[in-house]
Amino acid sequence: MTRELKYDVVIVGLGPAGSSLAYMLRKTGLRIAGLDWVDWDHLWGKPCGDAIGAHHFEETGLPHPQPPALMQKVSGIDIYSPSEEIRLRVYGEGYMISRNLYGRSLVKEAMDSGVDIYLKTRVGQVIMENGKLRGVAATTRDGEKLRFYADIIVDATGSGGSIRRKLPPSWPVNEPLKKTDAAVAYRRIVELGYDIEEPEFIRIYLNQRIAPGGYWWFFPKGKRSANIGLGVQGGRGHPHPAQIYRDVLMKRPEVGSEVKVIADSGALVPTRRPANTLVWDNFIGIGDNGYTVNPIHGGGMGYAMTAARHAYETIMEAFEKGDYTRRGLWGLNLRYMKGLGAKQAGLDIFRIFLQQLDDEEIEWGIRTGIMRASEAYETSVKGELKANLGIVEKARILAKLLGRPSMLLKLKMVADYMKQVKTLYKAYPENPEALPKWVDSVEQLYKEYKEKLGVTW
Ligand SMILES: Cc1cc2nc3c(=O)[nH]c(=O)nc-3n(C[C@H](O)[C@H](O)[C@H](O)COP(=O)(O)OP(=O)(O)OC[C@H]3O[C@@H](n4cnc5c(N)ncnc54)[C@H](O)[C@@H]3O)c2cc1C
Repeated sequence: MTRELKYDVVIVGLGPAGSSLAYMLRKTGLRIAGLDWVDWDHLWGKPCGDAIGAHHFEETGLPHPQPPALMQKVSGIDIYSPSEEIRLRVYGEGYMISRNLYGRSLVKEAMDSGVDIYLKTRVGQVIMENGKLRGVAATTRDGEKLRFYADIIVDATGSGGSIRRKLPPSWPVNEPLKKTDAAVAYRRIVELGYDIEEPEFIRIYLNQRIAPGGYWWFFPKGKRSANIGLGVQGGRGHPHPAQIYRDVLMKRPEVGSEVKVIADSGALVPTRRPANTLVWDNFIGIGDNGYTVNPIHGGGMGYAMTAARHAYETIMEAFEKGDYTRRGLWGLNLRYMKGLGAKQAGLDIFRIFLQQLDDEEIEWGIRTGIMRASEAYETSVKGELKANLGIVEKARILAKLLGRPSMLLKLKMVADYMKQVKTLYKAYPENPEALPKWVDSVEQLYKEYKEKLGVTW
């Protein structure tokens, strides 16, 4: 027997993206279903560094985490140079959270306000009728077959794209993730046998030998517990980060002094510009699914929440107009791409530059003051590089760059391309018909940039 269910919106995946959206839609009067294959104790179970900036909650209206979901308040980030002789302290408020407890609180609120939640329910197929997406077919762990029909299906299943991948290949949302545009990341949550100094500062270590094309981190979750891990660029033949953790990081006393391993696992993180489109007919894809992640540090929870916020506004608009086609849902693209998407694309250009530097160049950049703490912060918040600023600043940099003139030119070039890509994203097409031409321009820009940088991946 197959049970058939009809909703206005079906959200598949209740991680940061899907559960934020379910929470935002909970009081709208729309009939909403939220599905996930995990159970209550494994909600938001994807491995993560568990760090999130406080500003994401201000921007999206989601509740700030409270204890016990809030495990450690964060006052800033310490960024270490490859030699670890230099430390940049970047101030900014944030939280170390228990993902499961915070995720549960959102899902519970949604459920209490009438959202139907189906856990232990795996979506296996999409339901297409006459070339149109009508719903999804799922199976519960008890073997019950369910068919969900809705005007809008939201894919929030992460980078695996359980729904997106099953859509017709001609649909532009079906955009594959290149391996080199993702990080393979691994982390352990551990109890340590010593008191962590200044647990309110999370630590990032830039070191291409340990974490090629990425970084390793030490994020305290209280005085004696930490989330420790690393991400390496995919598709380049680097060793798996779990192996690096065991072989290299465990030899460091602050990492190796673990007394208990609470969790350990790894996963993929997209580290690129956003997907070319987050919507198509009756379809929305947000979170890792739409590649809405910060390409520099791989932080995806806050970006998923912002994408969910824009999806919520767009869904309300679509129901007002009764239009669930790509045109009716296009507002999500306009909201995301012209705002956070433009910044994300700028950071993606910067990410590609950083990934082809070696430790000596990174050390030198930090030592000469070219990358100062305030600039590191500004670059990551705005997606702009200061190398493009006023004459005085340029002269200062120039003086410091004596001996490395090619680096000055490179930096200037990177800053220019960051600007250009942002301009392209701010001019994101107003309608779906203009998308192919715009995608061509973006791809052309990347091709040109990579050629100039000498990047072949
Ligand atoms: C090691 C590591 C460290 C990271 N550190 C940080 C960090 O410190 N801060 C930060 O902000 N981000 C971090 N990230 C990124 C962050 O974890 C993701 O960006 C974020 O979880 C994305 O949320 P999401 O909801 O899009 O997807 P996910 O969290 O992947 O959630 C997807 C959900 O969909 C469900 N699902 C999938 N397929 C199906 C199906 N067929 N049927 C039903 N359900 C399905 C899954 O069970 C899951 O619950 C890290 C990532 C990794 C791998």
